[in-house]
Amino acid sequence: MIDIGRSNGGRAVRAVCYGDPEPALRGNANHNSALGAGEAEAYWRRHLRRRPVVFVLAGMHGHEVEGMMGALSILRLMEEDVDLAGTARPALLQKLRQTRLIVVPLANPDGRARVPYDGWVGLPLPEMTRVGQGTRADGSSYGWPGCKAVHPMRGDVGELGGYFDDAGVNLAHDEFFAPMSPVTAPLLKLVSAEGPDLFLNLHSYNFAPGILPLAYVPLQVKRQLAEWTRHYYSRMSAAGLPHHPAVPEPAPDGEDEGTPPAFNFTSAAWHAGAALPFTFECGHGLADDSAPRDFGYGEILHAHHILFETAADTAPESLRPKSGE
Ligand SMILES: [Zn+2]
Repeated sequence: MIDIGRSNGGRAVRAVCYGDPEPALRGNANHNSALGAGEAEAYWRRHLRRRPVVFVLAGMHGHEVEGMMGALSILRLMEEDVDLAGTARPALLQKLRQTRLIVVPLANPDGRARVPYDGWVGLPLPEMTRVGQGTRADGSSYGWPGCKAVHPMRGDVGELGGYFDDAGVNLAHDEFFAPMSPVTAPLLKLVSAEGPDLFLNLHSYNFAPGILPLAYVPLQVKRQLAEWTRHYYSRMSAAGLPHHPAVPEPAPDGEDEGTPPAFNFTSAAWHAGAALPFTFECGHGLADDSAPRDFGYGEILHAHHILFETAADTAPESLRPKSGE
């Protein structure tokens, strides 16, 4: 176990690691400088890895408990041979044991401490919005994405939402070159040290599970992510689980005149050294989700297990840029 640091509210943030890290494959440069040298392998010789490095980050938003369930499920599986529901999953366990696995089950303990719910299945969307994104002093909800227009979230605040740490910082949109959260820099330092093949940033929303497109990374990374996403969705379909209907065609950033996309934590993770980072959004299972009505706790857990299994099955060499791209 690694102590990553303490939140603005003074709560510990920890990582649990399994599997040999293969330090002999680490080069002499950080990711950015290795790219400057024109030698990606001066950072990590990923293609020689015997095991993929899978980094699972959950709980960046304190009310998005579904990713925490997923992270706790693989921790219990690694420690006790059964998942969070007490079910043995020998195939998944065997695959996870063949990875270098880093799990941060709760990146924002301040936000989590403010959330009175352990799950959202069957609850109304406005309640999730109130508790998750918080309210103004007059009790009206900030909602999404309006809650991002004030950052750090201070001033006109009634209830501070689970989105934020105790200083009002949304870790997904921290000031990455001068972090406002003491957790941001050590988290990115851990990403930089590990050079993960897959970096899974686990979130939730009120739709069927989906993987978000990634901004501010090379087009070849966006293409790899689209391919990986289609693969995950096909496994979800095969398991009878709902997923987001479409995978957007990868495109360069800034092609139109509209507001540019945000450089968020997942984008920062690529620049720190994650080969293929992505934001996963599970469904909360709310009563008024656009996801199917029968999406409950079992399905939430299952969707995460399939995600982790797909990650463990992803060979590092498949993430190398293909010639001609
Ligand atoms: Zn989130």
